[in-house]
Amino acid sequence: MYVQVPSEVLPSVILERATHLLVEMCGISSSSGDIPGLRRLAGRVASELSHRGLTAQVVEEPDEDGTPQPVLLARGPAATEHPLVLVGHLDTVLDAAPPRLEAATLWATGALDMKGGIAAFVGALDLLAARGERPPDDILLVAVPDEEVSGTISERAVRRWGETARALLVLEPGEARGAAETLVAGRRGLFEWRLEATGRASHSGLAYWQGRSALAGAADWAARAQRLSEPGRGVTVNVARMVAGDTDFVDTLPHHHALLGSSRRRNVVSERAVAEGEARFLSPSDGERVLASLERLTAAVAGEWELSMSLTRGTNVPPVDPRGPGANLARRASDLAAARGWTLEIEEDRGGISFPNYVADPSRVPIVDGLGPVGDGMHTRDEHLDLSSFGRRIVLLADLLATL
Ligand SMILES: [Zn+2]
Repeated sequence: MYVQVPSEVLPSVILERATHLLVEMCGISSSSGDIPGLRRLAGRVASELSHRGLTAQVVEEPDEDGTPQPVLLARGPAATEHPLVLVGHLDTVLDAAPPRLEAATLWATGALDMKGGIAAFVGALDLLAARGERPPDDILLVAVPDEEVSGTISERAVRRWGETARALLVLEPGEARGAAETLVAGRRGLFEWRLEATGRASHSGLAYWQGRSALAGAADWAARAQRLSEPGRGVTVNVARMVAGDTDFVDTLPHHHALLGSSRRRNVVSERAVAEGEARFLSPSDGERVLASLERLTAAVAGEWELSMSLTRGTNVPPVDPRGPGANLARRASDLAAARGWTLEIEEDRGGISFPNYVADPSRVPIVDGLGPVGDGMHTRDEHLDLSSFGRRIVLLADLLATL
């Protein structure tokens, strides 16, 4: 296992001050929707940042219901047109339990996800100052109150600031991997799709061969669509649900669900089917490729089963390509860690939709995620942070900011 960061690299007074701040931040309960708690935390962090030369303010932004919630913005002296944006969130899933320090572990709600990342940034500012260095003048920290509920404030803030950012650094936690730690360079995007199939109803006893079963065709399509999925870095297709049967059953399911489990209409060749799902992919070209495959499959199955079929694409979330513009930045972070004697691996394929996916066009902005310290038990009462990782991430952030 790793030993602590040597005190010539990170003076213990800086680590202690940052740890103390983190413990205090974790003691402020700030679960999503707890607006007074979120305001208290935002104010606390804002005052720390103003003491370190940033212009910090807590602004109010309306959530889905129009209720104002606090957003913390902290700017360097030249954060104007194309800032270097750091992103974090103030909210936690659970409300706070009293933080507990045990040797090199901090047991506390939000310590890992992700008050640790914000406190590490504050520590990095102290470390830069102690070295006689400064963070880039165009730095802008944005901390939002509703990430854990995938709220509109998070999405809007990242969309707005990500549009013009010269780079986007996300302070969410990395992961522990044996003796190494990770940061995140790639996140899958997705598109939703909907398949509609129409066949011909007929009496399955009297006119079976006149019927064209939409159910059988859609089921065949679903099995083949699922098989387009490729292991590893490839695309995946998930058929999430399918409804098939006679037209009443499919198109007005709420009024006809009682047919399920009864003997009624079992003698009708199924005329209608609807399936819905999503496809996930790591690069925009993979997204186009899997859409084209699904369209070809639709045409083929429609022909084979003599059905009319249509496929429509719905919501589209762009991927963060691990070989895209953030690749150099991720490699630089990994090299900086190596120069300090520890291993920072690059995660190219982190699932789930998060901050980086909210950028309107992630293929134009260098994005690195997972810069925060590691631990375990996220979103549970066992949440804890590895304080030696906390020290390493303070140094990493300072080293990285010094190169930007
Ligand atoms: Zn988080």
